[in-house]
Amino acid sequence: MNILLSRVGFETISPEMFHLHKLFFEDVTLVEDDSAEAPVDYRWDIRVRDEEDLIEAAAKLERVGGPAGAWERTSKLTVGTEADGRKRAFRKAVCSAMLQTLQDATGIEQPWGILTGVRPTKLMHNLLLKHGRAEAKRMLMEEYLVTERKAELLTDIAERQLKVIPDLFALDREVSIYIGIPFCPTKCAYCTFPAYDIRGQNGSVAAFLEGLHYEIRETGRWLKQAGLAVTTIYWGGGTPTSIEAHEMDALFATIRDSFPDLSLVRELTVEAGRPDTITPEKLDVMRKWGVGRISINPQSFTQQTLDAIGRHHTVKETVEKFKLAREMGMNNINMDLIIGLPNEGLAELELSLAETEKLMPESLTVHTLSFKRASKMTKNRDAYEVAERDEIAEMMARATAWTERHGYVPYYLYRQKNILGNLENIGYALEGRESLYNILMMEERQTVIGLGCGAVSKVVFPVRGGEEGPQRIERFPNPKEPSVYNEAYKQYVDKKLRLLDEAYGAALSGV
Ligand code: SF4
Repeated sequence: MNILLSRVGFETISPEMFHLHKLFFEDVTLVEDDSAEAPVDYRWDIRVRDEEDLIEAAAKLERVGGPAGAWERTSKLTVGTEADGRKRAFRKAVCSAMLQTLQDATGIEQPWGILTGVRPTKLMHNLLLKHGRAEAKRMLMEEYLVTERKAELLTDIAERQLKVIPDLFALDREVSIYIGIPFCPTKCAYCTFPAYDIRGQNGSVAAFLEGLHYEIRETGRWLKQAGLAVTTIYWGGGTPTSIEAHEMDALFATIRDSFPDLSLVRELTVEAGRPDTITPEKLDVMRKWGVGRISINPQSFTQQTLDAIGRHHTVKETVEKFKLAREMGMNNINMDLIIGLPNEGLAELELSLAETEKLMPESLTVHTLSFKRASKMTKNRDAYEVAERDEIAEMMARATAWTERHGYVPYYLYRQKNILGNLENIGYALEGRESLYNILMMEERQTVIGLGCGAVSKVVFPVRGGEEGPQRIERFPNPKEPSVYNEAYKQYVDKKLRLLDEAYGAALSGV
């Protein structure tokens, strides 16, 4: 599908505009010049009126190939005079006129309107802080074209997050820690996480653990020097429980010996993830070190699906390991389900929900399948049959209704590019069982220091007196591959601590 979009006065095609079209057409190219070789299927005519306090965009879409057809919409925005704000408003007006036109032309409604970012709740918090509940909701619906349902969902989630972490905006003297263990028993077809076969050739586990102990010790030393406390610790990956019980035990001991006062840590989570890695010995180690929350992820309760996506564990094993964890005292367990896995429709989802109901985990994260570029599934997309957009939307609606009936509340949300049906991933929890780490990581209000393979540190620079403008956030990724990490972890630790020095040095010395 080729769509002609000539320059819109102020700039060439922006990434937002391209992404907007991807929401409607799976395979689309925006061409700026109709002298290009490929035939054009549709043509845009965009006109913008930019006046002192008003920007008005009129978008007309005309079908060039096939039967004649034309659709037209206008969007108006009132704006201030600062140059930056005007440019943003200009884009917003053009995007919303285009979105409405595309909705008319295709009959597809986009529940998230022109919002294309991963973290809509972050925007919601900013709107709530500035404008209050009613105005924030109005802006989402009128300026971003978000449906009322989604606007309400965002408002509810943002308010719940503040209830769970009342000091969400005042945590810059604490950090959270993410520990990435990059191994799994086998690689799932949809996975793009840093996850390597634990029996494979990509760097030895022993060498990786040596590097991780080093990172923990050096980071602990830095935290103590800087006088920063730790809010939450999250073990992810990969599957952290891929390593042996005694290896987990040794890592916990290093954490205790290196980190500042662990009694101040509000939450300690281990994403056990794959049921086939959970053993009584590992659960025992977690209990010994005070792990308060674990994840055991079924993804689906249909065995053929698990086989098709390469998870190599059985449904029976998920249930057995869940019960084992319960018997051994784990009273805060999360489960992940994925909507839209290959060959799954409403019947399979209903089965997954019915089985989940028998276990009643404290939290349930409902993901919508995303076709990420690097996954095996995306590379062989034709080999996997996935449900149509309407069925995916219905599955999401049923999952939502199920959580409501069973007393779960939504508490965090994120979106991904190429997510089926342009939907979202939502974390639900029973009241008081929300994951603090998930909120902190998603909202980017606090530094998260990533240790281990594939761990991405996100350094949120504390705001200093008199500073204005958006908060500075720097990402610092560790290597994804164990073989690279094992060679270079010392250099990475060094660079990361220098970045942290830069962020906190002046703030901590009171400058
Ligand atoms: S268990 Fe999780 S991290 Fe491991 S391969 Fe599967 S999806 Fe990836």
